[in-house]
Parts: sequence; C-alpha cells; structure tokens
Amino acid sequence: MKNSFKTIKGTKDILPIESQQWRELENNIHNIMKNWGYGEIRTPIFESTGLFERSVGTDSDIVSKQMYTFMDQSKTSLTLRPELTAPVMRAYVQHNMEREGAMTKLYYIDSLFRQERPQAGRLRQFNQFGAEAIGSPNAEQDAEVISLLCNLLDKLNVKNYELVINSIGSASSRKLYRTALINFLSPFKNDLSNISKKRLSENPLRILDTKDEKEISILSSAPDIMDFLNGEDLKHFEDLKKILSQLGVSYKRDKNLVRGLDYYTKTTFEIINNNLGGQNALCGGGRYDKLVEKIGGKSTPAVGFAAGIERILLSIGKENKINHNKPIIYIVCTTNNTRNTVINLADKFRKNGLSTHFDTLRRSVKAQLREANRLFSTHAIFLGDEELPKESANVKDLDSGEQVSILLKDILSHFKPK
Ligand code: AMP
Repeated sequence: MKNSFKTIKGTKDILPIESQQWRELENNIHNIMKNWGYGEIRTPIFESTGLFERSVGTDSDIVSKQMYTFMDQSKTSLTLRPELTAPVMRAYVQHNMEREGAMTKLYYIDSLFRQERPQAGRLRQFNQFGAEAIGSPNAEQDAEVISLLCNLLDKLNVKNYELVINSIGSASSRKLYRTALINFLSPFKNDLSNISKKRLSENPLRILDTKDEKEISILSSAPDIMDFLNGEDLKHFEDLKKILSQLGVSYKRDKNLVRGLDYYTKTTFEIINNNLGGQNALCGGGRYDKLVEKIGGKSTPAVGFAAGIERILLSIGKENKINHNKPIIYIVCTTNNTRNTVINLADKFRKNGLSTHFDTLRRSVKAQLREANRLFSTHAIFLGDEELPKESANVKDLDSGEQVSILLKDILSHFKPK
C-alpha cells in the first residue's frame, strides 16, 4: 500500500459526530458573551515573533520552548499564535480602541499552536475561548470576568470544576516577595531540579508552579505572598473575594498559583477539574495592568481569561453530548414509484428548516431504517404504493414506536405547527 497522509502529531480532525457538540458550545459562548456585553474579535493566525517575546516573556515555557516560529520569504520572523491575550492587546492598541469608550470588553474563540509533548488533553493545535476586559483597575471587574467564566461553565454543563484564586501583587510587592523566596529556597538549592536552580536567580516565582513532588514538599513551608502585598494590593484581593462571595461564586485560595506568564499583576486564577488527570487546568486568567503599555499603548489596566475548549469538552458528561430537541426525519422510500415524491417531500422539509434524510443509494427498507438509526433520527416517514393513492404517509415516532397516518398536505404542519 502507498504511504497515505495523516494528521500531524498533536493535531486533530473534528469529525461531524463531534462538530455538532462544538457548534452547540460555540453558540452558548456567543450568547453568554453578548449578554455580558463582550464583542467578538478575530485576529490573524500569525503575528510578529517579537509580540510574544515582549509580552509573554522570553523565559516563559511558551516563548523559550513551544513556539512555531518561521521566517517568511522576506526574512521576517513570524509566529503561529501560542496564546491570544497578546494579539488581542496588539489589536486594541493598533485600532485605538480606547477612543471608543473607557471600557473595552472583547472575547474570542480561536485556535492556537504550541509545540508541547502531546497527551490526553494536550495538543499542538488546540482551541480556546477567552475574554479580556480592558480599562478598569478595580476588583469588581476581576469578579465580573471570573463570574462570567463560572456562569459559562455552568451553562455548558461542566461538572466538578473548582475555582482557585491568588494575588501575585503589583511589581513593588512582588519584588519584596521575590527576595524572601530566594532567601527561603537558597538553603535547599541542591534539592532543586536543574530548571528550578536556574529559575532561582532569574524568576524564582516560577518555581511555585512546579509539579515535582520534592519541590512541592519544600514549598509547603515557603513564605506566603499575602504577607508581602502592599495595602492597595491586599485591599484589591479582599474586595475580589467579597464580591465573589456576594455573587455566590465559590473559590479556594492557592498561595502557589502564580501562572507561567510574565504579564500578570495582582489577581491570578485557574479553574481545575481533578477528574481530568495530569492536564487538569481548564481555564486560566488574571489581571495584567502593564501589558498594554508593554506592547506600545498607553498604560491601561486589564483582566481576562482563556479556557481550553478540548479540555472543557472532556469535562462535559457523555450524557450531555447529544442534545436533540428538534426532530430528525428519515423519509423511507419503500418502492420505486414513490421515489420522486420522497425527493420532493425532503426538499420541502429542508426548505422549511427541518433536518431531513432520505436514501440516494436505493437500498432496502431494512437498510434505510438501519441508516435512520445511525443518524439518530427521531421519526421515520414511510411512503409506499399503499400510501400514495391516499395521498398520505405513515409517520413513526422512533422513540415510542407509535405510528400515525397523515395526509401529505398536512405533514409539514405535523412537524412544524404554525
Ligand atoms: P494558558 O494559555 O496556558 O493559560 O491555558 C489556558 C487553557 O488552555 C488551559 O487551562 C487549558 O485548558 C488550555 N490549554 C493550554 N495548553 C493546551 C494544550 N497544549 N492543549 C490543549 N489545551 C491546552
């Protein structure tokens, strides 16, 4: 056999059996975002490499190890977007969106690319939806973004998720904490992994993200950043917690939640689902008050999140996967004489918005019914020699088995009452 082509490692086709669920999920996201006042933004798949280097940070895993970067024909370095906050902020600055109003609220649903080791729930091309609220420095905006996310997850029927929050403070608080953390970890230097040894001098907060059991145990008695936050940072975090409680959003604080990217300030949060195993993070986000400025705009506070669609789909119970509340009709052709009537009836149903199938392979009635079943049909319509002279058809409810004879002239209104 000749070599055939396959999807590239870490990428995936979404076949019709799944795409219906994707569409439902996307429709829910669009509806909720609209209700919460967020407008959709779509940015290009590739951007200047410098955008990610400057915003995400050159020593982040994303920039140092995971980007798909290439030179185009004119020797410009381009990168397939590995995250969407930086492109959205680039668009905000480029289009002077601050002129449209004091607050800009944007959302996206798009693919991104990271060269990671593929495993369950971890792909090289994957999809996220996310929201960015740009303009407000206040805790009620952080709370709005977090509660939007939790409302969406509830609407999508995501079960067993847990919201984890923390604050990494503003730059001045973090500087003090950084020194305290280095002082605490230095005596354990020989017990740290090579990567953490390197991070100890460059970016010690990243060590808090570790998955290494030994390091986790050392960190259990590490200083807590809360003790280093200045009055304003502390007040912001207290306000956030108060508003979340007021909105009935439950949360847990994790003192080690720092997130891997350079651009966060103050609030960080994650949604996890412990039933998912190793890749248990469903969504991550936080406040990034310095990002707009960093990529060339005016100093503007912002807060947002990104949620992984593939992992959310893994978290939605199988029982929710197919949710047909509309009829799916299979018109069964029982003899050659009725074929044209079947074709016309299917055409009429489809033009009236009804999901309708019929057989173009001229198969037996038994084979057609098997196909109706495979296509999750809710009703079968039997058109045969006996029904034709009476200008009627037998309509069978495939769930209950109940069958009724209906005149062809009334059959559309049977499925689509006026
Ligand atoms: P991040 O942009 O790294 O904060 O990720 C936000 C969310 O995107 C995560 O919580 C995951 O749900 C999802 N995600 C991140 N990386 C991957 C990946 N390689 N494959 C699938 N989903 C991912």
